[in-house]
Amino acid sequence: MPSAYHPLTEEEAVQYVRSKLPGFFPSDAQLFSREIGDGNLNLVFRVVDAATGRSLILKQALPYARVVGESWPLTLDRARIESEALKIQGELAPGLVPRVYHYDPDLALTAMEDCSDHIIMRKGLIARKRYPRFAEHMAEFLARTLFFTSDLYLSPEEKKARVRRFINPEMCKITEDLVFSHPYYDADTNSFNPLIREDVEAIWNDGDLRREVANLKESFMTCGQALIHGDLHTGSIMVTEQDTKVIDPEFSYYGPMGFDIGALLANLFLSYASHEGQTADPGERKSYRQWLLRTAEDVWNGFLERFNRLWDEHVKDEMWSAPGYRDAYILRLLQDSAGFAGCKMMRRVIGLAPVADLETIEPPEVRAVAERQALRIGAQLVLRRGEMRRIGDITDLVRREG
Ligand code: ADP
Ligand code: MG
Ligand code: MG
Ligand code: MG
Repeated sequence: MPSAYHPLTEEEAVQYVRSKLPGFFPSDAQLFSREIGDGNLNLVFRVVDAATGRSLILKQALPYARVVGESWPLTLDRARIESEALKIQGELAPGLVPRVYHYDPDLALTAMEDCSDHIIMRKGLIARKRYPRFAEHMAEFLARTLFFTSDLYLSPEEKKARVRRFINPEMCKITEDLVFSHPYYDADTNSFNPLIREDVEAIWNDGDLRREVANLKESFMTCGQALIHGDLHTGSIMVTEQDTKVIDPEFSYYGPMGFDIGALLANLFLSYASHEGQTADPGERKSYRQWLLRTAEDVWNGFLERFNRLWDEHVKDEMWSAPGYRDAYILRLLQDSAGFAGCKMMRRVIGLAPVADLETIEPPEVRAVAERQALRIGAQLVLRRGEMRRIGDITDLVRREG
């Protein structure tokens, strides 16, 4: 079959697996393939051996953004970034990302472990499911992937070599536009519930807020602290009650650690706001919201415990041991996480690519109540991030504004 880039069909996905991954399936296996991608950017094929149930995923990048169409070209290099990031994350946080079987630079395609026995976490959160091990898994993922790719662990030479491999300008530009710019003025890409126009205009007219978002944008663009996932929302996490898999690191680059932690917190807080409209029963709502905030606290506290342990074990540089340096580093990380979480919340209400948590609330009047909560929490997280001293300050803010 031709190896020049072209988007595969479902049939070609089967042929591809037979020719490029011989031995994965028995040669006489009857294979079925279905395109299951529900994301914004790529094709995702699930290839299954009907007789044994054995399966794999082929994820192929398209040369444009799927949500918008061919008018928005997008680099295929993101498939390389994704496959390399998955391998690094898999080594640092074993079992918490799908295993990579194969990467094909010509077709911009990665063959990986099929996690279809898991569901996308966002769907679970909408259905008020609880995931008792989620916080510890994400604490582990964050602590290990962020610590071991940072200057706290790597030599300066190795760190810079890695930064070079993960220059990801086109994907970063999407974030710079959609998370840090467009939601804060009357941009064409925005789309929001007409009932909240006044609230959105108040954000466009809030000079303090726009200045603070600009500061966070600068940090996103200039702070090469660690290899971050870059798109760590609850649509990039697949879960069962016992297991967690982080997928879709095509936005990976060397950026601020707080952007990943903040993305995760933002999505827990968006869920918190959404249950204003998703859950009519006040008792159920209250109890689920308690679980969401406790999970946010457990993620941060679990992260911190592990990060501190890694620091004790591995940090060798004299200067990183200067008095007060570690405490200041961690405080900055908490405050960055709060600020980035705030931006990530506001963009999901005002900008392109809304989240199902809010979008599926009917009628629009009820949705507006939840959306206003998300905007208030988001704006206050950005404006008051400098006051945050511990994770409880952040969850208190959510409770107060929500
Ligand atoms: P995109 O980059 O286009 O958002 P994703 O990597 O998020 O693509 O994948 C889109 C969807 O495909 C996911 O929401 C999930 O349903 C499915 N999917 C992706 N990777 C896997 C996997 N390894 N196992 C099972 N399903 C997957
Ligand atoms: Mg995705
Ligand atoms: Mg919207
Ligand atoms: Mg993606």
